Amino acid sequence: MKRVLAFSVVLTFLAAAVVINSASSQGTTQELVNQHKVIARMRQDNNDRANENAHRDAGNAAARRGNGINYHGGPIMLGTTNIYYIWYGNWSGNSAVTILTDFANTIGGSPYFNINTTYSDGSNNHVSNSVNYGGSTTDNYSKGTSLSDSAIQAVVSSALTSGRLPYDSHGVYFVLTSADVTASSGFCTQYCGWHTHGTIFGTDIKYSFVGNPDRCPSSCAAQNVGPNGNGGADGMASIIAHELEESVTDPDLNAWYDTRGQENADKCAWTFGSTYTVNGAQANMLLGNRNFLIQQNWVNASGGYCAKSF
Ligand SMILES: [Zn+2]
Repeated sequence: MKRVLAFSVVLTFLAAAVVINSASSQGTTQELVNQHKVIARMRQDNNDRANENAHRDAGNAAARRGNGINYHGGPIMLGTTNIYYIWYGNWSGNSAVTILTDFANTIGGSPYFNINTTYSDGSNNHVSNSVNYGGSTTDNYSKGTSLSDSAIQAVVSSALTSGRLPYDSHGVYFVLTSADVTASSGFCTQYCGWHTHGTIFGTDIKYSFVGNPDRCPSSCAAQNVGPNGNGGADGMASIIAHELEESVTDPDLNAWYDTRGQENADKCAWTFGSTYTVNGAQANMLLGNRNFLIQQNWVNASGGYCAKSF
């Protein structure tokens, strides 16, 4: 009798634990786990169908035709877009923090980001050339040094639920990992970064992973030495630009992409237009008082083309 009672107590406890677990996962992060992500391909990867599975209706004839890229009816990001950084791992003493914060503070209003104003929604609202740096937080290896997709989502979720960053539906949250950290679904072997979205406590949160190319410069950096003297950070700037412009034109993966599932930046990945030499490295644009080598983006006008300004 005593044993039966103890067993039923254990069963009751287990049942309660299951209920609590499923309730919390539905309310917070479960939706994110099943989201597709849109990857930024590596330098040598010319497979322009890499993001077809993230956009399963890419061939949909009902989509509104643009200039080599089509609108599929979903929302775009309107008004000012806020950039948030989550510095994951060990960034102490690394000039990346200054370089990439400067980048976030100066990309808005640039001729480069103005390319995104050629994208509009079904009500003819256009993406604006307005980007604000919203702030940052740090994460001291809370999920170790090999991050699964769901661990990256949990890193974002934790920054929000702890109040270290605000819930912001106009935000794009970047998880930036130090060179001793990898993403187990394929950083350096399949991609250099990715973006997706998910609902966290009722807010549609756009977020992105960008790893440090110092881990694999031949795959994820255009050059070993960057114009700001930090090959990893200089490489990350281009990947952040890639993910940011895709996030504003295809935040929920149901707005702007082409018949192969490529978003605007995918169509121009690893092309830079005309360049110049500074500090022994190639650069192609000045933002604020820093030179950067940033990939081109797809202009949705005049038939469509890759450019570094509009
Ligand atoms: Zn992309």
